Amino acid sequence: MPCGERSIGKMDNRVEPTGSRRSRSDTIAAMLDSPLDVLIVGGGILGAGIARDGAMRGLRVGLVEQYDMAFGSSSRSSRMLHGGLRYLSQGHLKLVREASIEKGVIHHIAPHLADPLPFVFPTYRGSGWPLWQVRFGVKLYDFLCGGRNLGPSRSMCRDEIVEYLPGVKTEGLTGGVRYFDGLTNDARLVIDTLRSAAQAGAILCNYARLCNASPQRNSWQCEVGDELSGQQLRISARAVVNATGPWAETLPHSSVKLRLTKGIHLVVDRRRLPVPDAVFMTIAERALFAIPWGERVILGSTDTDYEGSLDDVRADGDDVAYVLDVVNGAFPDSRLGSDDVIGSWAGLRPLIASGSTAAEKGKPSNVSRAHKITMPQPGWFDIAGGKLTTYRLIGQQTIDRLMHYLDRKGAKCGTAAEPLIRPEEAQGTSGIVPPPPSRQLIEHFCKAEWAVHLDDVMLRRAGWHYYRTDSDQVAGQVAAWMAEILGWSAADEEAELGRYRRS
Ligand SMILES: Cc1cc2nc3c(=O)[nH]c(=O)nc-3n(C[C@H](O)[C@H](O)[C@H](O)COP(=O)(O)OP(=O)(O)OC[C@H]3O[C@@H](n4cnc5c(N)ncnc54)[C@H](O)[C@@H]3O)c2cc1C
Repeated sequence: MPCGERSIGKMDNRVEPTGSRRSRSDTIAAMLDSPLDVLIVGGGILGAGIARDGAMRGLRVGLVEQYDMAFGSSSRSSRMLHGGLRYLSQGHLKLVREASIEKGVIHHIAPHLADPLPFVFPTYRGSGWPLWQVRFGVKLYDFLCGGRNLGPSRSMCRDEIVEYLPGVKTEGLTGGVRYFDGLTNDARLVIDTLRSAAQAGAILCNYARLCNASPQRNSWQCEVGDELSGQQLRISARAVVNATGPWAETLPHSSVKLRLTKGIHLVVDRRRLPVPDAVFMTIAERALFAIPWGERVILGSTDTDYEGSLDDVRADGDDVAYVLDVVNGAFPDSRLGSDDVIGSWAGLRPLIASGSTAAEKGKPSNVSRAHKITMPQPGWFDIAGGKLTTYRLIGQQTIDRLMHYLDRKGAKCGTAAEPLIRPEEAQGTSGIVPPPPSRQLIEHFCKAEWAVHLDDVMLRRAGWHYYRTDSDQVAGQVAAWMAEILGWSAADEEAELGRYRRS
């Protein structure tokens, strides 16, 4: 399908939004100006991490994202920085170790986006998660963090669990443990990584979709559709990185084979489920979480095979009922219903496919979260799988391979040591819980963080859509500010509100 056919609303006479102080037309001009070392396709967490590393090592980096930055899985996760206690029980020790180290690294480079997250894990007789095993598991978990977990784990006796978690199911309760992971804000982690990449010189453009790419003698000619102007761009790059997550199979030249599984999350008021820490809730072999998020609690997730549209993934009634059922089972007095749900999101896990029969493929929750970097053709790199938590490492490994391919030596990776952004740059604009709305903030999102549409701000820059009970009113006010800042007409403003309500 030609790029232009998917254009999402033209800019017409509107004032151009700018990305990190570079206007959109300057961004496009810079991409076309001279060949890039690498064109990264996908503005999710992996694309952002690769762009940051490449730019910091002196490469001429461009990145295109078909929708908004963080539109895909990277704004629809459980927001945990974690090794994955569950993956330990599946024997994925290498993955748990890698991710455990990385959660500490993210805490170091982006403390505003990595709060220590204590978890309480109550254990039950006959549940498949015996207390002795869970006690051993959390000690191993701390050990795999190189002794530097975000807090120490400890055992809890039955009475302590009952006192600590008011309303928790007591039937069959044997005790539990308390251990630490990290809590982040996934979309903000993408945006701040991109801000960092832009500061290092990366050229970043959202609403720009790669439609085709053809190999030339020493480079790739890439056809990119500017979704705002309808223009076709021809970008030349020595290498292309396919970092398109769930879309990875759809790119020309891709060798990726994915298994997509859907996961949903619900947001409820914390007064309806007043948990002091995050809670690990088990049902059969599935594990669901209740994660405190300021005045709210995030509940999730599901893990079911998915075959629908990649561009419009939603929580359906069955998903919502399943999550509420598990929570009501774990906290019988809470009696949560669908009226309690303030917000919800649904996303796809881009897992690497294995096997062809149902038995070989196994259950969705048992599929490895590992990543794979391949070069099926000279200069074309496919990145598949991975986790939010391991994004920096995946960026490092990708750029190592790319430097080798480009025969560029010398520059060492600095992404584990350099702060993502300075504390004063994060102040008031970025954090785990949404900041209060203000015109100044909206101006910042539009001028320095590539926000183009109302939903870019409401869902991904600020997250008010999921957090605020008055999100409709907030959206009205934000639309009015964006109209002033970006020069929208009354009709544009109305169209933006309509688009936001459908998102
Ligand atoms: C329910 C759920 C819970 C999760 N929880 C956690 C967790 O707690 N912790 C954790 O570490 N990980 C978690 N993950 C995993 C993590 O979210 C993903 O592995 C990660 O976000 C994938 O990032 P990505 O950059 O590969 O993909 P994405 O974020 O999907 O980014 C790919 C981007 O490519 C763009 N794109 C596609 N095609 C094109 C094209 N032709 N041109 C330009 N752009 C294109 C898309 O629009 C998209 O924005 C979770 C995932 C899900 C779904």
